[in-house]
Amino acid sequence: MKGQILFVFGSQACVPDDGLVAARQLGYETIVFGAKVMCGMSQDLVDRFERVDLTQIDRVIGLARRVHAVEPVHGVVAYDDQAVPVAARVAEALGLPGHPVAAADAARDKVLMKHRFLAAGIPIAPLGLAKDEEDAVRWAAQNGYPVVVKPVRGSASQGVIRADDEEALRRAYRRLRRIVREYGLDCGDGSDSEQLVEGYIDGDEFSVELLVKRGVPHVLCVFEKPLPLTGPFFEETIYVTPPRLEAVRRRAIEELAVQGVAALGLRDGAAHCEVRFEGERGFVLEIGARLIGGACSRVFRHVLGEDIHPYVLRVALGEDVELPQQARGAAGAMMIPIPEEGRLRSMEGWAEARAVEGIEDAIVNTSPGEAILPFPEQSCYVGFLTAHGETVEQVESALSEASGRIRLVLDPLGCERWDRTIEDQRSYSPPSEYGIRTLAGYEMRQAEEEVLPLVAASHYGELPEDAGLAAARECLGCLDGSGGGEVSPDYWLVAQGRGFALSWVEGGIGFLSLLGVVSDQRRSGIGEALVRSAMGLFAQRGCTRMEVSVNPRQPGSMAFYRSLGFTAAECHEHECCSC
Ligand code: ADP
Repeated sequence: MKGQILFVFGSQACVPDDGLVAARQLGYETIVFGAKVMCGMSQDLVDRFERVDLTQIDRVIGLARRVHAVEPVHGVVAYDDQAVPVAARVAEALGLPGHPVAAADAARDKVLMKHRFLAAGIPIAPLGLAKDEEDAVRWAAQNGYPVVVKPVRGSASQGVIRADDEEALRRAYRRLRRIVREYGLDCGDGSDSEQLVEGYIDGDEFSVELLVKRGVPHVLCVFEKPLPLTGPFFEETIYVTPPRLEAVRRRAIEELAVQGVAALGLRDGAAHCEVRFEGERGFVLEIGARLIGGACSRVFRHVLGEDIHPYVLRVALGEDVELPQQARGAAGAMMIPIPEEGRLRSMEGWAEARAVEGIEDAIVNTSPGEAILPFPEQSCYVGFLTAHGETVEQVESALSEASGRIRLVLDPLGCERWDRTIEDQRSYSPPSEYGIRTLAGYEMRQAEEEVLPLVAASHYGELPEDAGLAAARECLGCLDGSGGGEVSPDYWLVAQGRGFALSWVEGGIGFLSLLGVVSDQRRSGIGEALVRSAMGLFAQRGCTRMEVSVNPRQPGSMAFYRSLGFTAAECHEHECCSC
């Protein structure tokens, strides 16, 4: 073997084997840093796997340095937005080629990105960073409707919503804040009340796929998005290439992407640029410092007539490789639409989809039992198709026909009970600075008044104050009725105005019915300390297990409870409080 290549996989990386196979073919060993062992990743292609938390960047860099000190790493690559800034930092720390850290950060953060575009004179949609809903409404009143709201560091169109008037904007803004909170989207140094609002660009959309080598952008292809993306949500569907455009327009699109890449300062690696045309004017919507998303990167096999991955790796290795050109013929990719929410029982019709003439790949990206959520909440596609043909029309119709043959069979989505034994937490004592205490000795009504503002701030922060308090009161009322066991402030914990955990006990089991941490205290460890404190309290009172109600529409809280050792117990549909 010539050495080793480090792959950093975030939660949205797909078809991991494609890059790993290319590494093997080039004669390199593979190390994977990933949040989990990814589905579709063949163990025999991975020489070493390290489970890492990509939000703990210093730890990831420390680990990469230790690996490198024992046996040198020769290149580092990432394929999804979450992993891009991490890979850039690792490359910098190890002195390897890659996108510079500042460029990778700008490609991840839409505010930084747009400032760079503006400074370089690149046309973008009018833009405001709204402090809160009122600020967004003021911005729209000054700049005009329609507008689009979106998270500062989102991807895959998650939370991106068009609003045509003030009422729709208020609804969209609140929904976006809920998505940001419940999915734990990275808000950087800002709070979850701060979101982007942009003028809506009414026109056709294209993407430009590039590979940047030593700072020089090379266009691989331009994709046309033939189906209208007019909102209110922007679930991606079909991409086809070559685009049906006059040469002049096509060159203008490529030029915008090349300027955008230069403005961000991307240096070694892939770039994916979205461009919209309103009449004669082109606007750069955004650039990701990665290949086209999900399994759509497979499509390069048909666009270029060969796999893109060896090129991506050779650029990451610092080789002066000649980059490939688009081949003759047409190619396309499609993300399978998500019809509605539900728990996946089965996905049918894949064999029939594969049988459609022109279809090359039909890749399933979910498995039975998973919660399927539609856009704008969703950030993950359930499957991908790629196609190849003589003409773009053939490719487009193959993709449409194949996707029409795929059917998701969904069951209703109910809340789940997860549980865990608690004896190991009997003597847990929370860090004193959190000030965690029970409300023992309070009257029930008094206890409710104590936690009411915390419930409002942590669960309904997106609503105006009065509406938030009313919703919190209703939520607490619903808790009262949910038990049947001993509902008592003895089992209610608060953390000095920063968070709370409300529990009750029945038959030797402690039930955590509502947990909240106010928005500026998230990721501070308070939530974990509250849950562990509740476990300790239950254990001391003779309980052996703790149960929590987990809403599958809130992946952030599912990940949180999983990290604390909870696993799915039997499922009790409809037992969930709506908060
Ligand atoms: P993400 O990074 O989550 O994909 P984008 O900013 O690329 O977010 O937006 C996703 C999609 O939403 C775009 O591909 C486009 O279709 C639509 N969109 C976003 N912003 C605008 C805008 N200002 N005008 C028109 N459409 C937009």
